[in-house]
Order: sequence, then structure tokens, then C-alpha cells
Amino acid sequence: MTERFDGSFTQQEPIPEEGIAAALDVLRHGRLHRYNTRPGELSETALLEQDFAAMTGARYCLAVASGGYAMSTALRAVGVRPGDRVLSNAFTLAPVPGAIASVGAVPVFVGVTEQLTIDLDDLAAKADQARVLLLSHMRGHICDMDRLMAICNAAGITVIEDCAHTMGAAWRGVPSGRHGAVGCYSCQTYKHVNSGEGGFLVTDDDEIAARAVILSGSYMLYERHLAAPAPEVFERVKYVTPNISGRMDNLRAAILRPQLRALEAQVDRWNDRYRALEDGLRGTPGLTLIDRPEAERYVGSSFQVLLMDWPGEKVAEVVRRCGARGVELKWFGAAEPVAFTSRYDSWRYVDAPRMPESDRILAAILDMRVPLTFSLDDCALIARIIRAEVGAVFQQAA
Ligand SMILES: *Cc1c(COP(=O)(O)O)cnc(C)c1O
Repeated sequence: MTERFDGSFTQQEPIPEEGIAAALDVLRHGRLHRYNTRPGELSETALLEQDFAAMTGARYCLAVASGGYAMSTALRAVGVRPGDRVLSNAFTLAPVPGAIASVGAVPVFVGVTEQLTIDLDDLAAKADQARVLLLSHMRGHICDMDRLMAICNAAGITVIEDCAHTMGAAWRGVPSGRHGAVGCYSCQTYKHVNSGEGGFLVTDDDEIAARAVILSGSYMLYERHLAAPAPEVFERVKYVTPNISGRMDNLRAAILRPQLRALEAQVDRWNDRYRALEDGLRGTPGLTLIDRPEAERYVGSSFQVLLMDWPGEKVAEVVRRCGARGVELKWFGAAEPVAFTSRYDSWRYVDAPRMPESDRILAAILDMRVPLTFSLDDCALIARIIRAEVGAVFQQAA
């Protein structure tokens, strides 16, 4: 009998009961806007920011409407101007170059390695081309952050981290998002906490934090923040920083607070699933697993493998055969962007030179989501299906 997987790759877990109860409280009192508080009341949004700052060890935190908004706000707050060039990953998702384009700046793409991290030699070679790096920890793979920061510090490059896939992760014990000047996170349904849409920005820098708060649309109510700098810092920036509204609201904040408290335990559950997939796929001929360095504390909320140097039609056949057995794989090598799998050459608003070494790796990447609704047995079954189908196509090719 041919085994089939019938779970859903897009089904996350329900919102915890505690979050539902807190959300109902907000709905019942009706004060959803973060600055709509009674005298002495602390809004769920302000409390959420305080919780997230404590969790990441950041001095300041701002909760916003999306991860993409967090990144564009970070770019504005560090002083990126229209026409500036901003370094970023060739292997990432569309909101990253989109955030750069949204401030009128121009992405300069840096290559990807077989570890699926930013190519640090390529970064060093391009370090004189921009003053800012928007570093995407794409699919949760963290590069050697010590070397990255050494390159950027030597070149005077400000680092903004896109931690959409690394909330809860760390490099040498330092939370992801705390190496550069600003860390940006997403709370969109498919990330590590789920409020439908939402995001965070963290920083230790007084002026970046104050600018970000004003940018997000605080009017002059910044004193209601619990994880923001002192009023005198706002005095320096408040007349010269535009309001580009993108605030978080109390309903989403109420849903998120219990999820943040549960995050550590959820990370362990993701990593159990990640290891079950890894164990089931180890030693599959023609298939390469991604090395995870010792220093990296990752969150296995998605899983990637490489079919290095396979002809495109054979990779497409693996995707089709796995799909027929209920296993949804996304391929970063397809000619046209499908769902979220766009590539640097799909973003045609950027005039990007070809990167043959990165193309070779992108053409090999198969990617899947690992929602926590999958059991460990589901993961073992998914691995058996991929192993069998990769094996069948590999044998034909040989
Ligand atoms: C999801 C995501 C973001 C942020 O996305 P939003 O949908 O705007 O919250 C940023 N970078 C990557 C790599 C992502 O996958």
C-alpha cells in the first residue's frame, strides 16, 4: 500500500484559551486602539511590548501592524533615504526587498551558501556599496553572526535583522535580533506567534526607538509606552519625524501575550518535529540536509533540503510526486514565482545582476512548512514519502 499524508501544511494550532479570554475582555470594553485607555490603565499593547523587550533583553520594543512594517520603519529610523542602496539577501521572501523599495531605496543582493545563509565572502566584497544591511534569517538559518558583525562593524554598516523565522532563536546564546542595531519580527499566522498580522521592532538605541514610535503613529502619546525611551529623547525627534501609521491594536496584543509566554515550549516542540524529519531523511541518495552549526539555537518551523545539481525537470517531478501523496513541497528553482517562492530575479523592480553560484543553490532548494498541528508520526510519514519519491526519481536519472 502506498502511504499518503492527509494533514494540512497551513493549519496552525488554535489561539490558547487564555488569549481568547483576554481578547474577549478587550472586545467587551471596546478600547481596541492602543492609546484608548482609562486613567491609570495600561494597554495590552504597551504590556506586550514590555513582555517582548524582557524576552529578548532589548531596552526598547515597539509593536506594529506587520513584520514588513517593522522593517520599513527600521530602515526609516536608521536614516535610509530615497535612492540609498541597502544590502540584503538574495534568498529571502518578497516583504524584505519590498520593505527596502517602500522607502525608495534600492536593494543590493548578497548571495546564499549551501547552509542557506548569507554568503559572508560576497557580503565582504560588497560592503563598500551600502551603509545598511537588512539581514534576513531566511527560514531560520542563522549565519556566523560573529563574522557578519565584524564585517559590518569594520565597514560602518548598520545591521537590521529580519527575524520573521527566528523569533525564539539565538546565536551563541544571544537572541536573534539582538546582534544588529534593530531586530524585526512578524506575528503573522505562519510565524512563531499568531495574531493574523502583526510585528515587533526591538533596539537598544534611544533615537532609533523614539523615531520608530513616532513613525508608527503615536501622535504625541508616546508617554503611554512602557518599553520606549525617556520623554527628552522624543523632544529631539518629534518635530522632524513623520507619522506613517502602522500601530498594533489591543485585540492582537491580547492574543499574543499568552503565546509569548508559551514560546520556549513551542520551540522545543518545533525542534522535535524538525529532528524527526531530519532522522527520516538522513542518508537519502541525491538529497542533502542542511548543516546546523553548534552555536545556532534554531526554531524548526520549516524544513529545507537540497537536490544539488539535479536537472530542473527531475526536481519538478519530485515535487509533483510528493504532492500527489499529500506532501506539499515548495521549490525555489521554478521558472515562475509560485505562492511565496519568489527569488531575487522575480523582483523585477530591482535591476539585479545574475548570481550564478546562488542560482545553483536556489535551484536545489525544496522547502516545507512544519505547523505544530503535525505529530511526530506525521513527520516520520512525510519523511518516508519524500525519501521514497526522491529515491524513485534519482534511480530513473542514474
Ligand atoms: C513573513 C516574513 C516577513 C514579514 O512579513 P509580514 O507578513 O509583513 O509580517 C519578513 N521576512 C520574511 C522572510 C518573512 O517570511
